[in-house]
Amino acid sequence: MPQPAPSPRTRARRLHDKATYDRAVIDAILDAMPVAHVGHIVDGFPVVTPTLQWREGDRIYWHGSSASRMQKRASGAQVCLTVTLLDGMVLARSGLEHSVNYRSVMVFGEADLVEGAEAKEAHLRRMMEQMFPGRWEALRPITAQELKATRILSLPLSEASAKISAGPPSDPPEDRPWPVWAGVIPIRLTVGEPEPASDLAPGLLTPEHARDYRIR
Ligand SMILES: Cc1cc2nc3c(=O)[nH]c(=O)nc-3n(C[C@H](O)[C@H](O)[C@H](O)COP(=O)(O)OP(=O)(O)OC[C@H]3O[C@@H](n4cnc5c(N)ncnc54)[C@H](O)[C@@H]3O)c2cc1C
Repeated sequence: MPQPAPSPRTRARRLHDKATYDRAVIDAILDAMPVAHVGHIVDGFPVVTPTLQWREGDRIYWHGSSASRMQKRASGAQVCLTVTLLDGMVLARSGLEHSVNYRSVMVFGEADLVEGAEAKEAHLRRMMEQMFPGRWEALRPITAQELKATRILSLPLSEASAKISAGPPSDPPEDRPWPVWAGVIPIRLTVGEPEPASDLAPGLLTPEHARDYRIR
């Protein structure tokens, strides 16, 4: 039994069969792609800002400089955040049947500011640990000044939807004999070999969290 949309604004209308509100699906997409786009209103006009995101349980987080316009204006305001993975180009027998395979998430809500140096440090540590397990402890400790200069916003995942498009082109039967190639060009984001900094302290090997980093 499909889950109902958590709110009117998350109810998919267009190609709604591709949408889901299943938290396991939403979480998997958020955890697979660290890049998000945050849409917010600045002085009456829309701004969409790309940024890194990470999930902690039922909330999604993003951080930035305390001087960041987005961090200042989105705090306490309604935002719309999206995360997208492009999985393939779908080539059909007619122009408008072309499409893309993708996994995406859209989250609505009021962005909450994380308050207090201790809480900020704990969230930054979790962000780092999710991306690069074991790294935080090895780093030069964060300073009070750095924490002051950093803001963290978060959104609950209570108003979230996912949409997934997958599979071959869906040409109508009468178009299928048309003599033009059709199919899918799969797209994968690949992670390259880690490249050590040229001024690395001597004797350091590439850590496992760098060797094993993956975008799923
Ligand atoms: C990489 C990529 C490429 C795309 N290319 C196109 C394109 O070229 N043309 C096109 O028309 N559409 C494209 N889409 C689909 C597009 O994102 C919308 O789903 C679609 O255009 C319908 O928009 P709408 O405003 O009518 O949605 P509605 O159905 O009115 O949206 C209602 C609610 O459904 C949910 N929803 C809608 N879309 C998404 C989504 N993508 N992910 C998660 N939740 C969603 C949201 O909660 C939204 O508020 C693409 C999607 C992706 C990820």
